[in-house]
Amino acid sequence: MTNPEDSGDSPLSAFVLCVVPAWCAFMSVYLLIGAVAGMASVLWGAVLAEPWRAQGILTCRGCQSRRGWLQAIFSWSPSCGSCGRRFTAWPLLGGTVGAVLFAGFAWLVIELGCQDVSEVRPSIPHWQGRVPFHLLLLFFLLTAIVTDLIDYVIPEQITNTGTLIAVALATLSGDLQLIHVWVDWSDELVRIYGPGLPQWMKDHQHLHGLVWSVCGLMTGGGLTWVTRAAANRILGFPAIGFGDVTLMAMIGAWIGWQPVLCVLAVGPLAGILTGTLIYVVTGRSYLAFGPPLCVGTMIVLCCWRAIWEEQGLRIIFCHPPTLAGLIGGAYLLFCILLYGVRVFRGTSAQQLRR
Ligand SMILES: [Zn+2]
Repeated sequence: MTNPEDSGDSPLSAFVLCVVPAWCAFMSVYLLIGAVAGMASVLWGAVLAEPWRAQGILTCRGCQSRRGWLQAIFSWSPSCGSCGRRFTAWPLLGGTVGAVLFAGFAWLVIELGCQDVSEVRPSIPHWQGRVPFHLLLLFFLLTAIVTDLIDYVIPEQITNTGTLIAVALATLSGDLQLIHVWVDWSDELVRIYGPGLPQWMKDHQHLHGLVWSVCGLMTGGGLTWVTRAAANRILGFPAIGFGDVTLMAMIGAWIGWQPVLCVLAVGPLAGILTGTLIYVVTGRSYLAFGPPLCVGTMIVLCCWRAIWEEQGLRIIFCHPPTLAGLIGGAYLLFCILLYGVRVFRGTSAQQLRR
């Protein structure tokens, strides 16, 4: 690296010569990892899905001959070797989405500090450890989206594996949290001493990691389970699958209880909008909650500083009565929206009969 003043170069050429190549190399690594992860999520999804639904990804739609994982990832020929029928573009699509997602996420976290909040100040190696931790979560979310789109279910193999890995890594590291399990901003002395953190959290880092992850798991899984019961009762059909319950439990185990509540706040509304759109466009009364919940998680991961610090949510999260009121209100709103969906479905069916 040359000093622009010594060599007489302008700062602009120094920027072009030094910063741009380093940035491109940095981004290429994440693009490459993301492409492989995206393709792997499609292939794993194809393995887990019903064979006849996943045709054209690993199995040929013409002669039923199978191709291997490596062949599907590295083969540039999209046609079957035996009968010449084309395979689907799913792996290519997954690779592209994975590359953009991974590189974009790494850029937002490392360059723009989209997850930097004043309460969580881990040491640099641990902070960098959180990036691969979250990239692994993105891989599980992509696989969940793929299986939900191909097969309309999220297999337990994905969510159970993801949950176990999240709890294990959170306990081993003890320093992967977006926000600690409890941060007290309600004290009068916050302006002088900063927010209150319970002493046991500082003394037992690994225990805190375990408690943090399990609290997220129980919050995500528990609230989705209650919501599922209400939706099934109001709509009269299983609108929210048990796969969505285990999915939210998994997401909670990776991001903690406060962010998973934010995901739940964003997810169901997106699900109803998506479901209505699918119904209007295709006439299918299928309410898919999996993909919107996954997308909601990605939004929360990328906007965490904005949500937590700039929107002042941290004040609410250390005041249990306000929090309980908001969750109760959101639950009520959700039930009202479900009644709306039920009425909408009812009138549409009558109009169709005329
Ligand atoms: Zn074939």
